Amino acid sequence: MSNIKTIETIIAPPPPHMVGDGFRVHNFFPNNVIDKKRMSPFFLLDYNSKVEFSPREEPRGVGVHPHRGFETVTIAYHGQVAHHDSGGNSGVIREGDVQWMTAASGLLHKEYHEKEFSRKGGLFQMVQLWVNLPAKYKMSPPKYQEITNSMMGRYDLPGDKGVVEIIAGEFNGVKGAASTFTPLQVYNAKLKKGAVLEMDFPSFYNTGILVVEGSASINNTAAPADHFVLFKNDGEKIQITASEDTILLVLSGEPIDEPIAQYGPFLMNTWAEVEQAINDVSAGKFGVLED
Ligand code: MN
Repeated sequence: MSNIKTIETIIAPPPPHMVGDGFRVHNFFPNNVIDKKRMSPFFLLDYNSKVEFSPREEPRGVGVHPHRGFETVTIAYHGQVAHHDSGGNSGVIREGDVQWMTAASGLLHKEYHEKEFSRKGGLFQMVQLWVNLPAKYKMSPPKYQEITNSMMGRYDLPGDKGVVEIIAGEFNGVKGAASTFTPLQVYNAKLKKGAVLEMDFPSFYNTGILVVEGSASINNTAAPADHFVLFKNDGEKIQITASEDTILLVLSGEPIDEPIAQYGPFLMNTWAEVEQAINDVSAGKFGVLED
């Protein structure tokens, strides 16, 4: 194939850090290798690789904090997360499900292990993505898309070789569940050993794959578990062969070509807008939420 996407780099999971006491994450980007615009519109990828949490009565998690200017996408592979926000919304993200939260103009929220999960303890594995919004949508009203597994688009591989769950975008004519502000693709490719899958994305889309489970040969290069494969913007095709039963999180999207000013949980275009966000939180404009 001449129009194959070249692999730029395969990144091993960086040393994990805790977010609150409930999320032990490897941050794949933004960092020195994949800077703040390299995977745009995806700004941040925090990956909680598999970890066993001991039972605890008081759920672990991260306390009240604000967001403005982007969307948080939480993908649950193992375990359950409960959330509450200053708009009075709450819910539980269960195994196999996705929460697509548009923070946009801003809210306060908290994210905790679901009570019953916490009480029993167990295996926990999650992804949180931050998806940037273009300037014209940064101050849109907040909203949620609770995307249960059954709501996702499904493309079944021939010969019972697995499924591509389309969370957002489109694959082989099958549409994803999430509505997005800019063109992007988010899939879970759940492949059985030996499955072959070919995907096609425009060369100017920023594209990467996180190996969530198992391992695969991607464009003839070995991609081990918990690694992130970053593609150059030079071709269209990705060819995957699952070396074992494998789950891949596939990300591809049209870059947002705007300046970025990020400070903590605020992702804006200018420092004046970041300052405004900080002031608005202090002034109570993001609402109120008990810890
Ligand atoms: Mn948050």
